[in-house]
Order: sequence, then structure tokens, then C-alpha cells
Amino acid sequence: MSSNLILKKICDFCGNEFEAKTLFTRYCSHTCNRKHYKILKREKEIESVKAVKIIPVKEPIISNIGIQQKEFLSVEETATLLGASRRTIQRMISKGTLKVGKIGRRTIVKRLEIDKLFI
Ligand SMILES: [Zn+2]
Repeated sequence: MSSNLILKKICDFCGNEFEAKTLFTRYCSHTCNRKHYKILKREKEIESVKAVKIIPVKEPIISNIGIQQKEFLSVEETATLLGASRRTIQRMISKGTLKVGKIGRRTIVKRLEIDKLFI
């Protein structure tokens, strides 16, 4: 009864127009179906690998708790706290955006000065 039914569809894989036999046909050929399935499977695998890699990235946040309670920070700690690079912090210091103190050769950033950046 469906012999006179012609569904013009676009192949999910190659993008070519084809005549589908059923509403659920997504590919112009079995080859496209198989190739697309392989790609989707690979993407899924890549995503699951990414998800695993996210975990170690989260770890520094936990160690930030200590930094957040400190009144005086090093340039390194300031960078970690703000999620910026050391160079960015150094640039802010040389521009005068971030006021710092010096103890010997060490640059000390007062927590209050960091907070002032957001006022
Ligand atoms: Zn196709």
C-alpha cells in the first residue's frame, strides 16, 4: 500500500537527497548508516575521555580555599586565585592596577588590594 509513497529526505551522513522507504530512514544507503554510526560512536568515546579529564582540573579549586583565607599572597597565589596567568598579574602590577608590596625581592599582594579590583 505504501508503494506510491515517496519520501524525499536528506541523508544524515552525506547530505544527499534520497527517496526514503519509511519515515524512519535517515540515510541514503547502508554505507552512510554504518559510517555515521562509527563517527557517532567515536565522538561518544572522545566525550567520555574528556569527562574523565575534567576531574583533575577541579582539584586546584579545593586548594584555593587556603589561598582565599590568606591576607597576603604571592604573585603565583594571586594568579591562582583569580584564575589568571602569572604574566597577567605582573602586567596589572606594572600598570598600577594592582598595588603590591615588597619584602626583599618578593612581591607580596595584599588580599584587600585584590578585592579592590572588584569594587
Ligand atoms: Zn548518504
